[in-house]
Amino acid sequence: MQHNVSRELFDKVILPVYSPAQFIPVRGEGSRIWDQNGVEYIDFAGGIAVNALGHCHPRLIKALQEQSQKLWHVSNVFTNEPALMLAQKLIDHTFADRVFFANSGAEANEAAFKLARYYATKKFHPYKTKIISFYQSFHGRTFFTVSVGGQAKYSDGFGPKPADIVHVPFNDLNAVKAVMDDHTCAVVLEPVQGEGGLASATPEFLNGVRLLCDEYNALLIFDEVQCGMGRTGSLYTYQQYNVIPDILTSAKALGGGFPISAMLTTDQVSSVMHVGVHGTTYGGNPLACAVGCEAFDIINSPDVLSGIEKRRAIFIAKLEEINDKFNVFREYRGKGLLIGAELQPEFHDKARDFLNVATEYKVMILNAGSNVLRFTPSLIISEDEIQEGMNRFAKAVEKVVNA
Ligand code: PLP
Repeated sequence: MQHNVSRELFDKVILPVYSPAQFIPVRGEGSRIWDQNGVEYIDFAGGIAVNALGHCHPRLIKALQEQSQKLWHVSNVFTNEPALMLAQKLIDHTFADRVFFANSGAEANEAAFKLARYYATKKFHPYKTKIISFYQSFHGRTFFTVSVGGQAKYSDGFGPKPADIVHVPFNDLNAVKAVMDDHTCAVVLEPVQGEGGLASATPEFLNGVRLLCDEYNALLIFDEVQCGMGRTGSLYTYQQYNVIPDILTSAKALGGGFPISAMLTTDQVSSVMHVGVHGTTYGGNPLACAVGCEAFDIINSPDVLSGIEKRRAIFIAKLEEINDKFNVFREYRGKGLLIGAELQPEFHDKARDFLNVATEYKVMILNAGSNVLRFTPSLIISEDEIQEGMNRFAKAVEKVVNA
């Protein structure tokens, strides 16, 4: 039977956990998307910080095509060349000595939290299991990661939660001190909180947390799933702070749109692991890693990384121009091309309205919670596309303000 592939079909056949826009994208090129009717949109959402090189980058297509004719999948019973090459690139350009590949941010974090507990209980004592995390943080949707995440609405309703996880306010070193003890195995944080509203860690806070972790033999885990891979202007955000984690997770832009994630760590921490302790069927598959290698080489180039602050400045200038007219934004947040615009109190809880009206004016944006608008465009978006997209967005703002 032939079905009409329409937005209405979504409401019938897909588990109702999302509320997608009314149009269905069918094609993308760079920072533009076309829907089923050929209508063109400018994409400032970038697949939630995934499409760091826009849509259908010719070099990623080539890497995918070439690998697709060689080898797609062998499982981890065998290793493969693209996985080894990508692991080596990650190690050569970070603090890490070891890499574990998975398929999503949540899986990389799941591996990170399991590793932290395994390390602490093997190396120190069986009760060293406490994980310190932060309100508003987001680490994925598996039950462990959603429980470590600092937004109870995502972990409530599924029965008993994993124990020994505490949450404290972000950027509050005294709050961390108050709960840190010899039973703590890890502190986990996003250097820039992506889903939680784009708050950036202060340098004093990151340095202070590092010192506390050292004092109590706890591991420091940075979740750079959203803020990593060039997004904030350096390969990883921690490199701007000069605070070295023990474990770092990466996903989203790592595959430029192809699902892949990685957990990076040191020889010291990984020394407790042995065959069979953790694993995944698809993690590190040749297709994902071949695309990942190409995405890595493009993103980790002076050309791309040095263009990020320039692009941010254009975005912020346009937001300020809009604000001069409509007074909707209270503050600009985030780093690089992880841009947040906090709404004025009278527009609180209206972030989704801005999103929805933006699509009417053919520009795709995101929210981060109900009070912050978020822009996570391609890292190589052109100035013309930023200008044009922001002009469209200005019309959307005018409509929401006058509604
Ligand atoms: N960690 C952070 C910081 C994220 O922003 C996200 C997703 O938005 C995740 C983890 C989860 O990643 P995934 O949805 O790929 O499981």
